Amino acid sequence: MQSRNVKGTKDLFGKETRQFQFVENIFSSIAESFGYQEMRPPVLEHSEVFVRGVGEGSDVVRKEMYTFLDKGERSLTLRPEFTAGIMRLIVQNKLYATETLPIKAYYNGPVFRYERPQLGRYRQFNQFGVECVGGTSYFNDLETIMLGYCMLSTLGLTNVTLKINTLGDEASREAYKAALKNYFADKVEGMCEDCKDRFNVNPLRILDCKVPEDQEIVKGAPKMSDYLSEESKERFENILDALTQMEIPYEVDDTLVRGLDYYSETVFEFHYTSKKGVNYGAIGAGGHYSNLVKEFGGPELEGVGFSFGEERIVSVLNDDELLNELNEEGEVEFYICPICEEAKEAALALSVSSRMMGARVDVNFEGGKLGAMLKKAVKKGALYAIIIGEDELNKNSLQMKNLVTEEQTELTVSEYLDAIKQMQEHDHECHCHDDEDGCEDGECCCHHHHKDEGDLN
Ligand code: AMP
Repeated sequence: MQSRNVKGTKDLFGKETRQFQFVENIFSSIAESFGYQEMRPPVLEHSEVFVRGVGEGSDVVRKEMYTFLDKGERSLTLRPEFTAGIMRLIVQNKLYATETLPIKAYYNGPVFRYERPQLGRYRQFNQFGVECVGGTSYFNDLETIMLGYCMLSTLGLTNVTLKINTLGDEASREAYKAALKNYFADKVEGMCEDCKDRFNVNPLRILDCKVPEDQEIVKGAPKMSDYLSEESKERFENILDALTQMEIPYEVDDTLVRGLDYYSETVFEFHYTSKKGVNYGAIGAGGHYSNLVKEFGGPELEGVGFSFGEERIVSVLNDDELLNELNEEGEVEFYICPICEEAKEAALALSVSSRMMGARVDVNFEGGKLGAMLKKAVKKGALYAIIIGEDELNKNSLQMKNLVTEEQTELTVSEYLDAIKQMQEHDHECHCHDDEDGCEDGECCCHHHHKDEGDLN
């Protein structure tokens, strides 16, 4: 039997896993600095969670869900996105009654969509996202956009385009949908099959069509901005003004409607073109929603959120060579080589003390020739090999070999542990401001703790 992975899925191992962890760690620490806490809804939900949550008019529900009957004849679905599951979780656990509003949740994990696999498009992929539920001010939309922008700039992504639009409130949207129906009524026959469906289910989605001939027809369609209520217009203008104030660059894109049905008011996408000129399209997207919590039987609470596609983010980081340092980092820093059977116990004890000091350490328990062990140390990317033989055992010492310079020094165990301590302290010093004039009070965005801000210069 030749077993292969399922089409559209991907095995992650080695460096690539580390790249995903790197992104996830930065994202979660920034989300936590914005007051978010992690939520982990199950991968499996009753299908109705997504049918009701994401909406029957969306491509995701109509064509892309992995839905099946389990052995108890229940219709279950592998989540195609997180937002609906998070809303179900909030309502079922009555978090709106017990938690301080707005509830701020971040999430991270695999999602599943039956799409045609291609560059940056998988059937199982990972999303990292946030939801802020139960706030009333447009500042929550703003802060959420800032959070997304901050996450991308902390990764070093400088070429981000924030596309933003408003879908207005429900009344504005209904008026606009009627105007679109009117406009497309005598044109839809000549458009793609999807657009014919969209015309009946949700004409807003026609604006999102990627077929070039249809896009030409879309260019002449009425504009949302002409159907916005005064409140929606003001809300959007306030948000754009504030983005300008915060120096977050944006482009208003009036064809941006988003593929999921639950959005209202502000919607946005983060687009990226790498330094090599590859356009990755949307690396993340989100928006404001008004009815979702109520849809699941909870009170009328608004929310806003976004989600990033981790595969796309890792690809652009590699493309822009922002992961070189991480890629060059070895699997371990120290590789301990006991060169006789008796030294193995001491090697194990030494690995425990080194690890407790935060070092990444591996021990070779397999034995063999020292030369072969050193080759393995280099393959693991270790900076130092620690060699312990009979002599060293008797003297309670070790040989520390720098694998780059090949320099070898004999150290006592306590000298070695002191050296590790110093290296660890040095590694944790902040280098973010090495090339700058230092940071003024409150301006620092590097997410490191500075013991003495004055030292940064
Ligand atoms: P959505 O939930 O559709 O708003 O998607 C949010 C983000 O997930 C997008 O901006 C993409 O970065 C990513 N994404 C969506 N679909 C896929 C896919 N099939 N494969 C990989 N990433 C995806």
